[in-house]
Amino acid sequence: MFNRSRRDLTRWFTLSMGSILILFASIIYYQRSIDRLEESDRLLYHKARVMAANIDSEWRQGKEHLALNNVPILGNYPPPADSNLVYARWYSARGTLHQFYGQQPTDQIQAIAAFETIQAKPKWLRQLTLPVGDNGRTIGYLQIAIPLTNAQVALREMLTAMVITVPLTLGAVSWVGWLLSGIAMKPVRNAYTHLQRFTSDASHELRAPLATILSNAQVGLLSPVDAGKLKHIRLEKIAETAKSMNQLVTDLLFLARQEGRLDANSIQLIHLNDLLKETIATPLIQSAAKHLTLHLELPEENIGINGNADLLQQAITNLLTNACKYTMPEGTIWIRLISQYHRVLIQIEDTGIGIPETDLPHIFERFYRVDEERTREKGGVGLGLAIAQQIVAAHGGYLTVRSQVGKGSIFQIELPLI
Ligand code: ADP
Repeated sequence: MFNRSRRDLTRWFTLSMGSILILFASIIYYQRSIDRLEESDRLLYHKARVMAANIDSEWRQGKEHLALNNVPILGNYPPPADSNLVYARWYSARGTLHQFYGQQPTDQIQAIAAFETIQAKPKWLRQLTLPVGDNGRTIGYLQIAIPLTNAQVALREMLTAMVITVPLTLGAVSWVGWLLSGIAMKPVRNAYTHLQRFTSDASHELRAPLATILSNAQVGLLSPVDAGKLKHIRLEKIAETAKSMNQLVTDLLFLARQEGRLDANSIQLIHLNDLLKETIATPLIQSAAKHLTLHLELPEENIGINGNADLLQQAITNLLTNACKYTMPEGTIWIRLISQYHRVLIQIEDTGIGIPETDLPHIFERFYRVDEERTREKGGVGLGLAIAQQIVAAHGGYLTVRSQVGKGSIFQIELPLI
């Protein structure tokens, strides 16, 4: 699926860049042809002007006589060696041929346009028909032509260069497109893999309690003489498993819904000193910390931040229940609230089992458990820290951890003070 999308992206990238490239190459080619033609036209015009300047006209007995003897090429002199004129023709004012040099033309003038490109196989010619005047009257037409060989050769060379470089550039563009689409697809691929793993982990976690419920219900149904106490135990097991399933589904829904920053309507002023005192006093924490010592260290002033009190309480509760879960009886847990210049820190430090260094980068991932067997015994599915991190991030803060196996861990919530 991803490779097909990557190929499609590359194809579209190459196609669009290729079209732009070909368009630019065509524009350059067209511009160069125009430049070359203009160059030839300037040369032609210059030659025609020089020739026209040497035409002598005089009136004798009320009749005009034209003398072309001094006109270069058309006159008595042989054409200079550097002259590249293919032909030169002189037509009368009525368009009748009078004198010519080069190939025999038609008797009557053909061209009307001043400049014309003519195909005289195998080469192309550029022809100029210049009306020559005297005292405001047209006395005749001078028609000359030069070959476009130089321009043709230059343009052909340019075309050859383009035919070679355009496909090479297109190849390079498609390679760059392939690399870029790979980079663009990476986050999508990661998100997809993440989602796939999350879905399969979630299904896996739901399957175990479902199997317990099913087996208890089936055994209960198969033995009609199930004694009252046994029946009660089975029903209790079903209820307990359903409760944990309910918690798991609630957690999953929370993770799915609470993505990104907090909704503005759910933000209120929270006094963190009060919030921490309330959290510690909840029956959940009190029962979890039954055999432990809790130390609450608060600053004198009540620190206020803007946020969602319920969510923050849930994040702190998750960290605290973990600290209680993974600390041996008689251990100590410190809960500290530290106010700094532009931020506030909530630290939860325990003297528990600690987390191996190799696991530290992963513990905030969904469904990640350091030691699956031991954690399962403690009833966790590996979502508590992911939820806490998501809540802290929604408040614009960071959740970090430092830990040493056998010594304990310090989880720290850092929140901006705005
Ligand atoms: P769970 O709900 O399974 O505890 P969490 O996401 O809360 O999942 O924690 C992930 C893993 O991090 C746990 O499996 C546990 O091994 C480890 N962990 C979390 N907090 C602590 C702690 N305070 N001390 C030691 N290990 C911890």
